[in-house]
Amino acid sequence: MEPEYDYLLAGGGAAGLSLAYHLSQEPRLRGKRVLLLEPAAKEQNDRTWSFWTDQPTPYDAVLAAEWRQLAFRSPQFSVVLPLRRHRYCTLRGLDFYRFVQAALAARPAQFTRVEARVEHLVNTPAGVVAHTSAGEFRARYAFDSRPPHLTPRPDRRYLWQHFVGWEVETDFDAFDAATPVFMDFTVPQQRECRFVYVLPFGPRRALVEYTLFSSQLLQPAEYEEALRAYLHQLLAGRPYRVAETETGAIPMTDHSFEARDGAHIVNLGTRGGRVKASTGYAFLRMQQQAARLTEALATTGTLPHDLTGDRWQFHLFDTLLLDIMQRRGERTRDIFAELFQRNPVERILDFLDERTTWPQNLQVMNSVTPWPFLRSIVQVLRGQPGKREE
Ligand SMILES: Cc1cc2nc3c(=O)[nH]c(=O)nc-3n(C[C@H](O)[C@H](O)[C@H](O)COP(=O)(O)OP(=O)(O)OC[C@H]3O[C@@H](n4cnc5c(N)ncnc54)[C@H](O)[C@@H]3O)c2cc1C
Repeated sequence: MEPEYDYLLAGGGAAGLSLAYHLSQEPRLRGKRVLLLEPAAKEQNDRTWSFWTDQPTPYDAVLAAEWRQLAFRSPQFSVVLPLRRHRYCTLRGLDFYRFVQAALAARPAQFTRVEARVEHLVNTPAGVVAHTSAGEFRARYAFDSRPPHLTPRPDRRYLWQHFVGWEVETDFDAFDAATPVFMDFTVPQQRECRFVYVLPFGPRRALVEYTLFSSQLLQPAEYEEALRAYLHQLLAGRPYRVAETETGAIPMTDHSFEARDGAHIVNLGTRGGRVKASTGYAFLRMQQQAARLTEALATTGTLPHDLTGDRWQFHLFDTLLLDIMQRRGERTRDIFAELFQRNPVERILDFLDERTTWPQNLQVMNSVTPWPFLRSIVQVLRGQPGKREE
């Protein structure tokens, strides 16, 4: 049977909508029919994405803020780093959803949105059948960004980036509006990797997030207590109001996410391994994949041979850092301090973006104390994730 749609998007969150947007902007794909299956209305500001970039993005007009420098703080080393090439950007989820929905609504013949939950996607010789809460749909290709269900493997590392953030307001100038705090490691580490992240939207308003990279989530009261202590010190005991709250738990793992599921189904977003294992950043990686897929579909009519462009050496670096976080989480602070102290910030951002060359990777590797990494290499070669060291 001929598919009714060319492309079917299962899930319309960050990854699904990013691909939809890229498809909508490609003149060579104007004749294609795209079906978006998403159960939620996406009318809430359910998260805020931040990322750094040295390129224009499609969402520049709706960014909440952008900055040209970043602060890093730790007990041994603190610095404000001017960004010469990059900018650090913040995009509110709701602004992104509305922006993309408006672009899709402008092409009603091309895009159909159905509020439905996808239950199964099945490959067929001609494409894909989606079994959903609203019936069956057929398409040539499906792009699946439903949240993944991971079955943990004993040889892999499973941590979380988990956080509670408060968007706080004050009646006095309290924040340096020019300088987001990328990581403030001056908080007690409690044998884990713990830091505070601050996005100043103005001198009297900022998102302040207490963040951990670790395997166990905390009780809500523990994040809140840490936030209260941090804000008490930062604002010298002066009052503030909590205008909004953001909580999240992002998987940080070297689990191998499959880029595809058979001939006609491509996995996107978290499900497709776009969350960078050692940092939790994903938004720009999803844009890059959306651009790669769109370009291949427009030029060849089929999927690209390499669906992600990932390079194995960065996967190895991520694994080593996750192993250290798992064995001696509190060491992470020293590693980031060494990285920021001994490298130009642009090199670190390029390295975390997986854009650096081998000579640059060697410079980055040479800048950190080697023995924790050597120890993790042994664990990786043995196929055993490191365990918490006493
Ligand atoms: C609170 C929070 C803050 C984050 N901040 C950042 C950040 O600052 N920078 C960054 O780079 N990354 C960040 N991330 C990580 C990552 O960018 C986000 O998790 C991102 O939303 C992942 O995109 P996704 O499309 O995989 O998942 P989602 O955006 O969650 O989209 C998945 C979609 O699938 C839908 N769905 C669920 N079940 C079904 C079903 N059965 N059928 C069809 N659809 C279904 C959901 O309703 C949802 O809309 C953050 C994550 C969280 C949770």
